Amino acid sequence: MAVVAQNIRCSHCGAPVEFKPGELIATCKYCGFTTVIETGQAFNFEHSVLINSYTPEQIEGLVRDWMRSGFMKPGNLAKKSKITEKNLVYLPFWVVTVEATTKYKGIFERISPAIVKEGQIQREYNWLVLARDAAGFPTREYDVPLAGKVPYDFRKIEGFAKLLNSEMERDQALELARQQIDGHHRFLLQQDIDRIVEAQTSVDLKQMVYLHAPVWFIKYEYKGNNYQMIVDGAKGMVLKGDIPSVKF
Ligand SMILES: [Zn+2]
Repeated sequence: MAVVAQNIRCSHCGAPVEFKPGELIATCKYCGFTTVIETGQAFNFEHSVLINSYTPEQIEGLVRDWMRSGFMKPGNLAKKSKITEKNLVYLPFWVVTVEATTKYKGIFERISPAIVKEGQIQREYNWLVLARDAAGFPTREYDVPLAGKVPYDFRKIEGFAKLLNSEMERDQALELARQQIDGHHRFLLQQDIDRIVEAQTSVDLKQMVYLHAPVWFIKYEYKGNNYQMIVDGAKGMVLKGDIPSVKF
């Protein structure tokens, strides 16, 4: 199926703003103005970007260093691998700053007789929600270096990089964050109780930021097989790295 790009005009500079079906928030590549597609209105929330610190050559160096390090990799991995793709993509995220509270009631069965326990978990988070339907992206592994965020500036985006638009509105992202935190807290509850009778998570929203973060998608070939790596472009963290199996 061909992807049909549609057009609206940037309300700031008048340039055509391209977007694809499913995208809800678009950023003008000529002036950086961000628009809510449905209404054509300006986007009123903070839009930030993390600066990419690597050139394609530098990211290749980082990948080769990673290949040379660690015990679980083939000894000749760095030498024998061919890097076949290195794409810089600015992925859209919602950074949801909340205080989340889960009130719970459950059964503690580790002692006899079992007892009913009640309590609450309260934590603060900068919870990250990927604003794209991209199964397999390791969002929970990504400790986004938020200290490095600056106001979005289209001039900071490299010509060869790809900038993806959000497929998720603010309220959807907030609800998704609440659900994910609820799941996380239910996992934490297992330390205190063995069976959950009820658990309810509420969030007190402090701030919500729309953020583009630079992520390198790397593909490499080793002994005829293809492998993938995902590397954060701000600090160089390897978020995912496929390793060929080693036969001893
Ligand atoms: Zn514009």
